[in-house]
Amino acid sequence: MNRTVGFIYAHPDDETFGCAYLIREIANQGGKPVLLTATRGEAGKSGRLGPMTREQLAEIRDLELQRAGEILGIADMERLDMGDGKLQETEQEALVDIITAFLNKHGAEVVVTFPADGISGHPDHIAIHHAVNKAVFSGNCSSVQKLYYNVMGISGAKANEEGAAVLELEGEGLQETKARALAAHESQILSIERVFGKLSEGPPWHFPPEAFQLVWERGSFNPVKRERSIFDDLI
Ligand SMILES: [Zn+2]
Repeated sequence: MNRTVGFIYAHPDDETFGCAYLIREIANQGGKPVLLTATRGEAGKSGRLGPMTREQLAEIRDLELQRAGEILGIADMERLDMGDGKLQETEQEALVDIITAFLNKHGAEVVVTFPADGISGHPDHIAIHHAVNKAVFSGNCSSVQKLYYNVMGISGAKANEEGAAVLELEGEGLQETKARALAAHESQILSIERVFGKLSEGPPWHFPPEAFQLVWERGSFNPVKRERSIFDDLI
């Protein structure tokens, strides 16, 4: 299963919040998860690590992402410095070109990114969503066969309905991996606890399933189906 899946996100930790099971599962199956993160997350909070400068936080978050990437089995990551909180001010074409080049360089066959609401509504997430759509729908990423939105939270949408998650991962056997990857993002522990509860209270942890909406598959939009794996129906 030598397939490459490109994850396109805004900040260090976005990948672990919504995709830890998926990334680890791809790696476990011999696939190649690759990650593009547009910012260094320097505008975020530093949680229990105490006050620090933006540059210090950026450096810490670089290391945190490196560690989480090792835990999740990310094969290659590209970390950009496009300004945390500033992606909507960035020239969209520049962002689209960077994403296109990244997907082409890796020959990504599947792409995963934010839904229209950015999951949390963060403007950087929404900017990434639109830029990835543009890159994939432009036809300039010829290796890409499928685009998914990571829709954590709509679990329970009716199956076989347009816009429903076609793929849901319960994370069987992978909960500890997700907990470790979350813990690697130590500076973000307060928001992690807000979403997932205290990591020290597990195992077991009560993480919600990860859900993915298939938005585009080789030219057709919102194909209605259920999938067992992100590799289903690839040519
Ligand atoms: Zn984020």
